[in-house]
Amino acid sequence: MQFESLNIIEPILKSLKEEGYTIPTPIQVQAIPIVLQGIDLIGCAQTGTGKTAAFAVPILQLLSKNKTFDRKKKIRSLIVTPTRELAIQIEESFKVYGRYTELTCAVVFGGVNQNPQTKALRNGVDILVATPGRLLDLMNQGFISLKDVEIFVLDEADRMLDMGFIHDVRRILASLPQKRQSLFFSATMPPEIVRLAGSIVYKPVKVEVTPSASTVDIVDQFVYFIDRGNKNSLLLELLKDEKIKTALVFTRTKYGADKVVRVLKKKNISAEAIHGNKAQNARQKALSGFKAQTTRVLVATDIAARGIDVDDLEYVINFEIPNISETYVHRIGRTGRAGAKGTAISFCDAEEKEYLKDIERLITKKIQVVDDHPFPLIDNNPVKPTKQQFNSRIPNRFGSSRNLIPDRRNLRR
Ligand code: AMP
Repeated sequence: MQFESLNIIEPILKSLKEEGYTIPTPIQVQAIPIVLQGIDLIGCAQTGTGKTAAFAVPILQLLSKNKTFDRKKKIRSLIVTPTRELAIQIEESFKVYGRYTELTCAVVFGGVNQNPQTKALRNGVDILVATPGRLLDLMNQGFISLKDVEIFVLDEADRMLDMGFIHDVRRILASLPQKRQSLFFSATMPPEIVRLAGSIVYKPVKVEVTPSASTVDIVDQFVYFIDRGNKNSLLLELLKDEKIKTALVFTRTKYGADKVVRVLKKKNISAEAIHGNKAQNARQKALSGFKAQTTRVLVATDIAARGIDVDDLEYVINFEIPNISETYVHRIGRTGRAGAKGTAISFCDAEEKEYLKDIERLITKKIQVVDDHPFPLIDNNPVKPTKQQFNSRIPNRFGSSRNLIPDRRNLRR
């Protein structure tokens, strides 16, 4: 199916074409016609499935077909999303897809000076993308009114709950007009999310894409069993491979992220960390450098990485195995986007083997083990690593040119 068959208006089709989109993704095929009909929607989909365009395209179309002629623009669509990175990316998407419409868009998020944001709001905007805290703050100060919102989107609802935004969300809901169209997106649908959805949408249609299955099938996944103390060395070894133009490395802690960055920088590998302790502009700078490929390695914690959307990101490296299996799927979903190639590499020490088992249970497949590497796991039963063990290094038996990541063509599936 092509975008043309979804009855999308010419100005939007033109920008989609310029973006190189010809075939809508499954969530777009399902959601766009429903939203265009003005029907409420529950979308079970995660980032990476094309869900932003699944709501942005029909919202732009509905708003531009049904123009208002008020002198000052009013907020007619509100998108609430949990993280700053997501908010920025969603606004960018609206700007790109809507570049041939006359609609305007702004974004507000916390952690930065509010003046540029209030300045952007002063002349009025049609579409506002916001994180919950700053939105409420600016509403309380009288800079934002939600009384003209026609279409409301709650994005990443499960993460919103995880991050403790439920009360903020309820406060925002109370300020929205009763009569509105609501679109509710969440990667997972546990009972409390279903309840929350029930309090927002009216007679919704539910659409679902199975990201776990699709991500898991698209991305080549490898696990390297290794002693904890050798993980830095293996990372450096892997990064000798020039085919890794950029890699997103996940660590469990902020401290761990900074430490990996220090190790890489010492070896002259350009690396930046992105996590909650970093100021917003430092995070944005790190992300832009990574997108522009001037920074080769971005090291991130899970919360910070949520919403990182980098086209053509091929390598995700799990420096540590996440103890929550869904997190693994979210992590590897940063690569293999919209059908592109993706490789996920996981470093697994003895203590993390349990987590790996859980992950394999969730994704219902075995992750390919790479045995043939210079730092094989020796200590299968670490009591508590002593400093000496922790720092132990096994000499590299292999030359630097050795290709440590199996070629996908040689894989036994
Ligand atoms: P999202 O799930 O909205 O974060 O989108 C994931 C990525 O897929 C983004 O980089 C989009 O630019 C890209 N994308 C979205 N829709 C399409 C499409 N129909 N064709 C190609 N790429 C797309």
